[in-house]
Amino acid sequence: METTRIVIIGAGSAGIAAGTRLLQTGFKNVLVLEAENRFGGRVHTIPFGDNVVDLGAQWCHGEKGNAIYQLVKYSNMLQSTGTVYEDYKCVRSNKEVLSEDVTNILKSIIDNMLPSKGNERMKKFEGSLGTYLTEAFWRDLVPEVDKTIAHEYFENYKKFESSIEACDTLFEASARGYLEYWICEGDLLLNWKDKGFRSFLRFLMKSKSDEEDDLGLLNKRIQYNSRVRNIEWQRQSDANVRIHLCNGGIIDTDHVICTVSLGVLKETHHNLFTPALPPAKCRAIDGLKLGTVDKFFLELATPFEPEDWSGFWLLWREEDLLELRTSNYFWLESVFGFYRVSCQPRLLQGWIIGPHARYMETLPEAEVLAALLWLFKKFFTFQVPAPLNFLRTRWYTNPSFRGSYTFRTMYAEELRAGSWDLASPLADEKNGKPSLLFAGEATHTHYYSTVHGAVESGWREAERLTEYYRGHNSQM
Ligand SMILES: Cc1cc2nc3c(=O)[nH]c(=O)nc-3n(C[C@H](O)[C@H](O)[C@H](O)COP(=O)(O)OP(=O)(O)OC[C@H]3O[C@@H](n4cnc5c(N)ncnc54)[C@H](O)[C@@H]3O)c2cc1C
Repeated sequence: METTRIVIIGAGSAGIAAGTRLLQTGFKNVLVLEAENRFGGRVHTIPFGDNVVDLGAQWCHGEKGNAIYQLVKYSNMLQSTGTVYEDYKCVRSNKEVLSEDVTNILKSIIDNMLPSKGNERMKKFEGSLGTYLTEAFWRDLVPEVDKTIAHEYFENYKKFESSIEACDTLFEASARGYLEYWICEGDLLLNWKDKGFRSFLRFLMKSKSDEEDDLGLLNKRIQYNSRVRNIEWQRQSDANVRIHLCNGGIIDTDHVICTVSLGVLKETHHNLFTPALPPAKCRAIDGLKLGTVDKFFLELATPFEPEDWSGFWLLWREEDLLELRTSNYFWLESVFGFYRVSCQPRLLQGWIIGPHARYMETLPEAEVLAALLWLFKKFFTFQVPAPLNFLRTRWYTNPSFRGSYTFRTMYAEELRAGSWDLASPLADEKNGKPSLLFAGEATHTHYYSTVHGAVESGWREAERLTEYYRGHNSQM
């Protein structure tokens, strides 16, 4: 452990969790290579508005069994987001606001549609999440609700649910696969007050200040702007694993823990690994998917009005939608809602999913803002003033991510491929040494798509190496 060299690729949540755990266990020679010029990966907190916003992960989802919650529960870092995401208004494209009664009926139908893990009906369901939910919604709909309104509402709900799964459409997500995800009991939307999710990673690293270069346990161990081009994980000539960087650098090591996103693996795995990855891993990389979810942040001069709106959903009437689809603003169809932001009274946060999100990412920022202001004009009887500042995320465009988070596809089910294939380590045939290990949210069987899943996966691989060396020492 004193001399073993370990290189971690990626300074996201999984990489930081693996690095800190290895150092705490007694490994001394740990280096993290990061393509970007910052740590955090899909945790990205930046200054905006009155304090900060999270461009990526925003909430700690749940308490019981959530590794993050368990770590910070006594440190007063988290607070509840309350009912912001439940109390939204529903506005139609003819500016009509749905009555409280109708909205509540519709909300209670969707609240009861998605079962928790024990559901027998869903376990046996062979089809997609989209098919399952469509059947459930129309089965549970009560005659009091007008069918046209119900349809408009359900169309928006599908986009909302797609943002939770990060799928382009619910019809590519597996219903049975949905049950692989374990919901941690407790508050599902705990936010990081005015400090952002980054404060958790600092907590994990035990850094004492918010200074950019104070990386606590990982001080001087994270090498930024170091994009890995190729990993020779099984060399004929010697026992080293050799890493080639895009900047020409070469690093020899004993073990690599690769934490790059599934999006990066999909795009680069044919060139990233020598020799090529075994078929089971390639099948999982092919079959699982990392979808796109993007955010908009509008900083208004004064808090959004009406002041009793915690957020709003946008329901398109059929005729308006058909017209929208023929216009330059067609991509607005996948913007499904806006909400207030905790600790940021003047902010409005919007969401967009799927192919339209990827298209939106290609547009100039000013054009995106103009379209959103047009959208507000279309739906509201009142005017939303132009914001003082605006930003949108581009998770797909960035080659370090190529998307937002993963879900279980119908295709992966067909291939019988899953996170376990992604997670399995690869050993050097000559000496049986686990030379290439994999961590990252996509490799977690039950908490994929989350930061707590990423953190646990980092710990898992750190433990794997610790066990390997323990086993070795006890044989000597
Ligand atoms: C919009 C959005 C909202 C989200 N909301 C939540 C939420 O509220 N709660 C929650 O729990 N989760 C949320 N998530 C998911 C969560 O952010 C991720 O699951 C988690 O951060 C993934 O961590 P990771 O370490 O697995 O991967 P990453 O964070 O992607 O880390 C991988 C690192 O590898 C680096 N890298 C990539 N390629 C290379 C290369 N070739 N060489 C060197 N370095 C490389 C990347 O730059 C990155 O830093 C959200 C994500 C997004 C995008």
